[in-house]
Amino acid sequence: MDSVSLDGSLFSGFPTLSPGHVWLVGAGPGDVGLLTLHALSAMKQADVVYYDALIPQDILTLTPATLIYAGKKAGESCRQDRITQDLIDAARAGHRVVRLKGGDPLVFGRGGEEMQALHAAGIPCRIIPGVTAAQGAAACSQIPLTHRDHNSAVTFLSGHQAETLYGEAWHDIGLRSPLLVLYMGLKNFDKIRLRLLEVGRSADQPVAFISAATTPQQTTVLTTLGESLSVWPSISGPAIIMIGQGVSPE
Ligand code: SAH
Repeated sequence: MDSVSLDGSLFSGFPTLSPGHVWLVGAGPGDVGLLTLHALSAMKQADVVYYDALIPQDILTLTPATLIYAGKKAGESCRQDRITQDLIDAARAGHRVVRLKGGDPLVFGRGGEEMQALHAAGIPCRIIPGVTAAQGAAACSQIPLTHRDHNSAVTFLSGHQAETLYGEAWHDIGLRSPLLVLYMGLKNFDKIRLRLLEVGRSADQPVAFISAATTPQQTTVLTTLGESLSVWPSISGPAIIMIGQGVSPE
């Protein structure tokens, strides 16, 4: 493929990232080609980019800004406050700040919390949406998120602390939604699967584990809810888990 220059006139008319402003930017699910032009424009204008764990090197090399790792590791519960404070401090120091997040900033990315904290601190902020992992996973495994024949609704849910998070709502979420798309679902998949069977979801329902979607390492493993525990230990993250009739390969 010929290389394409993405500098200069392509970005004329795009919004300006001003000193003292913070943009929360979605980097998409991994494939550099799924970055939006707005995301690229933001990265080219930034003085400093705070980036998350799942952002690939290919994407980080597109910015001339100072790169600061702001990913969280399991068990670091107060880290989010620190990241938010760093964004505020960088903006107050007059930098053009990009907070680069995997997928879409407002889908399970704590972008909502960061946005609220920036508003509270009086820091102007803008959101640049990104392709969320569910969309990347659906495309790369050719599983439609909606389909007129079998699902006209799709539910994105977090597997992180799902047991307590959904409480009584498990019945409605687990049973009634035609397609469940589980983010961060690998660790607790055994418990989540059990809850789904308990509330009446059929053991025959197709399940897809889609790992590293849109990257060269992507894999899709198809099974059923009943059989899924036998493959689950072999699945590596990051993974999207889709559960529903429409997940069937036919
Ligand atoms: N804001 C992100 C989600 C962050 S939560 C978005 O919109 O996509 C992190 C979870 O996203 C991971 O645990 C995994 O479930 C999912 N994820 C992120 N990138 C992925 C990828 N390339 N393939 C599969 N799942 C992915």
